[in-house]
Amino acid sequence: MTRLRALLAAPLFLLPACATVEDAALNAPPSRAVAIPQTQDPYFADAAAALAARAPQGRARNVILFIGDGMGVSTVTAARIYAGQRQGGDGESYDLAMDQAPHSAFSRTYSHDFQVADSAATATAMTTGVKTNSGVLGVASAARLGDCAAGQANSIPTLFELAEAQGLSTGIVSTARITHATPAAAYAHAAHRDWENDAVAAAGGAGACHDIARQLIEWPAGDGFEIALGGGRANFLPNTIADPEAPQIMGQRRDGRDLTAEWTAKSGHAYIWNAQQFAATDFSSDVRVLGLFSPSHMAYELQRGADPAGEPSLAEMTRAAITRLSQDREGYVLMIEAGRIDHAHHEGRAQLALADTVAMDEAIRTALAMTSREDTLIIATADHSHTLTIAGYARRNNPITGLSADEESPRPGALDGKPYTTLGYANGPGAVFAGEGPAARERPDLSGVDTSDPAFRVQALVPLASETHAGEDVPVYAWGPGAEAISGTIEQQLIFHAMAHALGFRFR
Ligand SMILES: [Zn+2]
Repeated sequence: MTRLRALLAAPLFLLPACATVEDAALNAPPSRAVAIPQTQDPYFADAAAALAARAPQGRARNVILFIGDGMGVSTVTAARIYAGQRQGGDGESYDLAMDQAPHSAFSRTYSHDFQVADSAATATAMTTGVKTNSGVLGVASAARLGDCAAGQANSIPTLFELAEAQGLSTGIVSTARITHATPAAAYAHAAHRDWENDAVAAAGGAGACHDIARQLIEWPAGDGFEIALGGGRANFLPNTIADPEAPQIMGQRRDGRDLTAEWTAKSGHAYIWNAQQFAATDFSSDVRVLGLFSPSHMAYELQRGADPAGEPSLAEMTRAAITRLSQDREGYVLMIEAGRIDHAHHEGRAQLALADTVAMDEAIRTALAMTSREDTLIIATADHSHTLTIAGYARRNNPITGLSADEESPRPGALDGKPYTTLGYANGPGAVFAGEGPAARERPDLSGVDTSDPAFRVQALVPLASETHAGEDVPVYAWGPGAEAISGTIEQQLIFHAMAHALGFRFR
């Protein structure tokens, strides 16, 4: 072993904190040594140690984090079958892009205070490296839900803020409102995820704490987001202005501010809100783009064509974001969320969730095609699961959204003599025991029901207005430098550490 090789093999902490021999040898991004408050947090320290034990070597210029909101293992499996069958092939053996990832792991999604967590705490785990309380964004677990002052006192920087401070570019893309929990975890620090505009923040006791839409526009990190695409216009418009696409919907802000106008008032900043403007935007320029394509969440993929002003697909937004961020040679950090997988599950409408999962997979294919495995770490995961099950003994090639018993293989139905679907939920609005009286105790007969209609609510056991999240581990898929850290069963916040380490961050 030469002296240089010996030096290269030495633990990183023996090397100087700035540009290291290793950096020069690998022509990698510089080491980025920074002090952040969460290094004292036990969740952070444990995950940092778990990452160090994996000794990942890869160094990345760019990091892309895909989050399928609510995309548990059963959702991925069902989406795989759905995608293959939709193409007229064999669904069970079909490969999603996610299925072909060279590295994968299970992620433990519990939050500091909940066995079954929400999107705010779980996204915060991935953007800051700590577990925190369900419902809070960008603050550590010492801040209780809804406590403005405690939130401010326990605010912790996100990977996106750390990246901006180092001169990297940043972007966020979501099919949900851009102020919704998952994308907000990139930039917001709030003791309550619901504080999306000033009116709901005031009603929710936010006091002196700024609302999340305002935090996005006033984000002090570096030179701000290069690109932010999603839904949620109403949180950015005053209640005196009607939505440009849906005039019956007024803006939600009480402070009279038009945050979209404040964005465009800054030089080189553009605001777009429909598919035509999206198509006309030159993303291979230095323009800073805020795109808000719906007053609230964007459409489900299966219903996107019905949007009057048109909406870009998640893959199209992914292409735009990577094109824009690739203008910067320093590198970038990008979050892309398929935010509505979760909403479809909550409604009990599994097919909408599967189609949105396939849409995210197409976005992952786009990202893989546009970037190099040499310099870009791509991680795709879920924040938490849902109660979807794939059950019964359906034959091969049986439609995944159909009844379990098919004509070729007649089999008795359930004990009540009625057929049942392959997909099911443990709870939710498709519950079989809903309402009052003896009739409400009988499972509806699905004979003659089109269970493949996207509006069909899949049957569930426990009646709840909204189907719930589920607490089992979720999959993590990874490609590129640093992806080797994604293996085994990991705490969710290790994903932060894997991304930060690949970018060269060293924390103290
Ligand atoms: Zn949810």
